[in-house]
Amino acid sequence: MTRFAYFKGRIVPAEQATISVKNHAFNYGTAVFGGLRGYWNADDEQLYVFRPLDHFRRLIQSASLLRMTVPHTPEGLEHILIDLLRAEGYRENVYVRPLVYKDLDGIGVRLHDVPDALTIWTLPFGKYIEKEEGAHVHFSAWRRVDDNAIPARGKISGSYANSALIKSDAVLAGYDEALVLNQDGHVSEASAANIFMARNGTVFTPPVQSNVLEGITRRSLIELLRNEMGVDVVERDIDRTEIYLADEVFLCGTGVQIAAITRVEHRAIGSGRMGEITNELRTLYQNVVTARVEKYRKWCAPVYATEPMSES
Ligand code: PMP
Repeated sequence: MTRFAYFKGRIVPAEQATISVKNHAFNYGTAVFGGLRGYWNADDEQLYVFRPLDHFRRLIQSASLLRMTVPHTPEGLEHILIDLLRAEGYRENVYVRPLVYKDLDGIGVRLHDVPDALTIWTLPFGKYIEKEEGAHVHFSAWRRVDDNAIPARGKISGSYANSALIKSDAVLAGYDEALVLNQDGHVSEASAANIFMARNGTVFTPPVQSNVLEGITRRSLIELLRNEMGVDVVERDIDRTEIYLADEVFLCGTGVQIAAITRVEHRAIGSGRMGEITNELRTLYQNVVTARVEKYRKWCAPVYATEPMSES
């Protein structure tokens, strides 16, 4: 249960963190947000937030795309978050939702001359996709929002109407998720996760110019695949039919973590079961995010130590 939120510059009981029906962000989607995870490590009796500085850097960048300024450095935001999580006292996995939003009660579609505000709330959190070990997806009839319509590399609240259409049409048609093409017909990502595909031992993922969110999990996995698993990773456009012929396909994101895609519509991917690269990467990722891999402890900020120590 969520007991507190950071709102108007301080930590308050969650029920006091409310906005008006007249709020600009509520009316026009003019907010940006982040999504972080904290992992409880029972051996260490510690809650570790994964790559908070990278998440807060992206939040600040997303905000700047909508002409909003965050009055804190990434380090300052990390301190606020650690204080908030300590107030909650969680001893389980959590999700963290920071938002920067247009804080004006009134009419007028624009970005200039509108004050902005920051809020953060958190909640206990488990899986995002039920079938992480073998999801069945389709290719969405929707296209991924284009960078020249709404910046795809920003996590902009309004553009998640696109993600919601994609997700609901998939789930209501009986699939677990959807893969989405961009305007030029290449694979971009899923409704709220980046995509990777393995063919003949090489791993491919769409480049950041493909109207994808510049995912922090994506970046982490590229590093883990290359440096810890010795797998070549190539960032290039991916055709729809390459997905059909892939040996392995998986999604990744803070919420999704790593989810194997084993079926696309009526086609099995590879053997129809989670492949070896995906399997090994999932185990490694779980160890990394719970601060069990010394080399990557720099990505994990402990909540209950006296000083936060992440430095990535
Ligand atoms: N793409 C979209 C559209 C998303 O919403 C997310 C989730 N934030 C991702 C990709 C994955 O990004 P990250 O790894 O930074 O969570």
